[in-house]
Amino acid sequence: MNKHAITAQEREQILHRLHTTTENFAKIGEAFNRSPWTIKRIAQVVGVSAQGRDSYSSCTSCGAGISWHNKSGRCQPCGMKHLNSDPKERAKRSERLKRAYQDPEKLRRARLRIKENFRVAMENPEKRERFCSRARERFMRNVWSPEARAKWYAAQPHTLEKAFRTRFAWCPPEYLEQYRFLRQTKHLSYPQAKQIILDEIRVAKERAVNRLSPFERQEIALQKGAGLTEGYSRVTLGGVRRA
Ligand SMILES: [Zn+2]
Repeated sequence: MNKHAITAQEREQILHRLHTTTENFAKIGEAFNRSPWTIKRIAQVVGVSAQGRDSYSSCTSCGAGISWHNKSGRCQPCGMKHLNSDPKERAKRSERLKRAYQDPEKLRRARLRIKENFRVAMENPEKRERFCSRARERFMRNVWSPEARAKWYAAQPHTLEKAFRTRFAWCPPEYLEQYRFLRQTKHLSYPQAKQIILDEIRVAKERAVNRLSPFERQEIALQKGAGLTEGYSRVTLGGVRRA
């Protein structure tokens, strides 16, 4: 834009244009390499109406008239929609909020504010109805429609298996067979069977840590020719011949 002061001659030409045409300020401004604000100011001084001259173009999304003040090329609602649909902008916003809400006091206040806003809105029957009908609609569409339900089931083929895995997170798979045996053949309760298995796991772990159990150590000692302790001479160990 031309930064120089307007000459008398230029001013005359602009005035002439304003009086003889209905062109908007931006259009005239373009012709004289001046901003629409400059033209508007001149028009105001001489009392030329701004009626119809403020609008410049139409919203690129919906076609509504927008002013030459507008920089985005969209009307306000379309501009918001556009911003909301921009993943970059949303990420930026989310980042900003996350940072702000790291402050517990801010988070507390925001929660209260949202809750209060919602409460007030729900007191308005019109808003309440709109909210409820939208919620119903969303529910029917995203949760209850045959497609949504089919999708949900398809996504959870292992619901039972998952529940089982959660309940038996304590039980390594190699012990499941034993668990079944304890429950179904021995008719033990879940806690009893669990306790037995857990004990076995603990013993097995200790064995793994010590590498050898006392029994194994005894066995090896016997193989090396160690005798049995006095008083335990009649103890027999599987596979160990009596002396
Ligand atoms: Zn629009």
